[in-house]
Amino acid sequence: MNLAIIGFPIEHSLSPAMQKAVLDRDSEYIRIAIPPESLKAGVESLRDLGFRGFNVTIPHKTRVMEFLDEIDPDALEIGAVNTVVNESGKLIGFNTDHLGFLQGLGDFSIEDRDVTMLGAGGAARAVFHALKKNRARRITIGVRNPDRARNFDSAEIFRFEDPEFESRLQATDLLINSTPLGMFPRVDEKPPIDLQKLNPEAFVYDLIYTPELTRFLRESQQRGHRIANGVPMLVGQGAEAFRLWTGKIPNIDAMLDALLKQFR
Ligand code: NAP
Repeated sequence: MNLAIIGFPIEHSLSPAMQKAVLDRDSEYIRIAIPPESLKAGVESLRDLGFRGFNVTIPHKTRVMEFLDEIDPDALEIGAVNTVVNESGKLIGFNTDHLGFLQGLGDFSIEDRDVTMLGAGGAARAVFHALKKNRARRITIGVRNPDRARNFDSAEIFRFEDPEFESRLQATDLLINSTPLGMFPRVDEKPPIDLQKLNPEAFVYDLIYTPELTRFLRESQQRGHRIANGVPMLVGQGAEAFRLWTGKIPNIDAMLDALLKQFR
């Protein structure tokens, strides 16, 4: 079985190591750099060459949808595809990020919870979909520029410095960082919120996976919050892609080990 990940640039993708750890020896999973102007030709080539499927990453997650034959309803609502399955020449697009996000929550149930998200970009859209689907009671999003936060229908969007946003922090059960603030190499950065204003019982989840413990998570942990990082989400989205291509459930621990070996 031939598989790939497409993006531009693509050389730093961690997915090949993670997938190769669970694919059988006859399978291949390769990185392919496809510049935006060649996306259509690239997708057609993968179909013609009989690839079983491919992952899609930045900057192609939204535009790739134009070149597929069918889009799964969750991916359509999120507005992005990160996994494509080739069913006898028919390309079907899925989004597995929203399922990966749920993996990071462990036994924490979203239903009827008050949730606050920081940032409203691509990853936030997948998270928002998972929150809605799992019946969060209220979803608040803090951003620096509300004009750029589109298509988050039922969420309430505020600037970080809005006093109403600060009062939402006091009521929140789950706080999610979906900005890149604190990601390697700018590890001294953190989202612009005052953790003293946060409900002391809140679960703090950072989608960043490099470093594994961001400054935001470290400070939250020091204040006694339960925390989660982006590693289970990354493994979870990859595991779901593997299941879509092979019909099998992969060994999650093997995927996690392969991923962590690249970090440490
Ligand atoms: P994105 O589409 O570029 O969105 C980033 C969001 O953060 C936007 O709302 C952006 O606001 C905001 N932001 C960026 N810099 C900011 C700053 N200095 N101050 C305030 N807000 C700022 O990025 P993404 O693809 O959603 O990724 C976001 C993070 O999630 C990254 O760290 C990525 O590694 C992580 N991620 C993790 C996984 C996983 O599997 N664990 C999956 C996907 C993404 P503007 O619109 O105003 O620029």
